[in-house]
Amino acid sequence: MLWRFSDGRRGEILRYVTGRQTLERRLRHIATLNPLGCMPELPEVETVRRGLLPVMENAVITRADIRRPDLRWPFPERMAERLTGQRVEALRRRSKYILADLASGETLIIHLGMSGRILISGDPLGLFHHNHPAPEKHDHVVFDMANGARVTFNDARRFGAMDLTQTDAIDDHWLIASLGPEPLGNAFHEDYLVGRLKGRNTPIKAALLDQRVVAGLGNIYVCEALFRAGVSPKRKAGRIAEPRVRGLVPVIREVLQEAIEAGGSSLRDYRQADGELGYFQHTFRVYDREGAPCPTPGCGSEIVRIVQSGRSSFYCPRCQR
Ligand SMILES: [Zn+2]
Repeated sequence: MLWRFSDGRRGEILRYVTGRQTLERRLRHIATLNPLGCMPELPEVETVRRGLLPVMENAVITRADIRRPDLRWPFPERMAERLTGQRVEALRRRSKYILADLASGETLIIHLGMSGRILISGDPLGLFHHNHPAPEKHDHVVFDMANGARVTFNDARRFGAMDLTQTDAIDDHWLIASLGPEPLGNAFHEDYLVGRLKGRNTPIKAALLDQRVVAGLGNIYVCEALFRAGVSPKRKAGRIAEPRVRGLVPVIREVLQEAIEAGGSSLRDYRQADGELGYFQHTFRVYDREGAPCPTPGCGSEIVRIVQSGRSSFYCPRCQR
């Protein structure tokens, strides 16, 4: 997933918005985000949402160009008509879904899938309305905003999704209804997790990836959280001592919050705005570090990779029990 401005526009925008520091920084954020080239997890989606805020929230969609009938699933009926002329009153996130609440009382649900990219072109201050690049092959949905920005959803593999539903019924939508609590929200707490894991015979890795248990966690941050908590990914969820289960809650919050902050830092760091190579700067302690020394001082072991349910788990066999 690569997030960037359209080619050639970045310098001009920066020149013309001198003095509009906040807007400039947020736009640079989108330009520099490229989390790992794999399925975005909660922190990446949250970072994207924050990057989209200045061009989409409180802005009117003047034109919605729906360039194919579907992504992973068919688009909703009359999608362009239902979006055109609508003000985006709030841009929220639930799990890995970005939710755009429209003035009509409907909410646009956006899921990035595996390869979704969002490109922003044009100038949100309205100075360069007509200077947008020609659509590329995988530009499937294009929003022209009244503020002059163009938001383009590009998805080569088409695992992404968009749907429209009534805002007041969003919790009943089939993509949302079965999701567990937000890991950074109040409903995710120690007693809750103890109750959810009690008696479960699946490995803790699989239990934490189960979106019904906690929403938005993926492979990367589960690996990182289990390392920090000293829990082996192979351990059966229902057989972990209760104090250790309780200890998982703060470390899950911690790894997510640190990643979201790293996304924010990439926005604030002007040096990273340099072209397509600007990556989301975040280091992992175990994820994708097979064979590397364990970062725990004095441990001396190597990070090991195993495959669980078809996905790689990275952990330290000495620190994680
Ligand atoms: Zn270790």
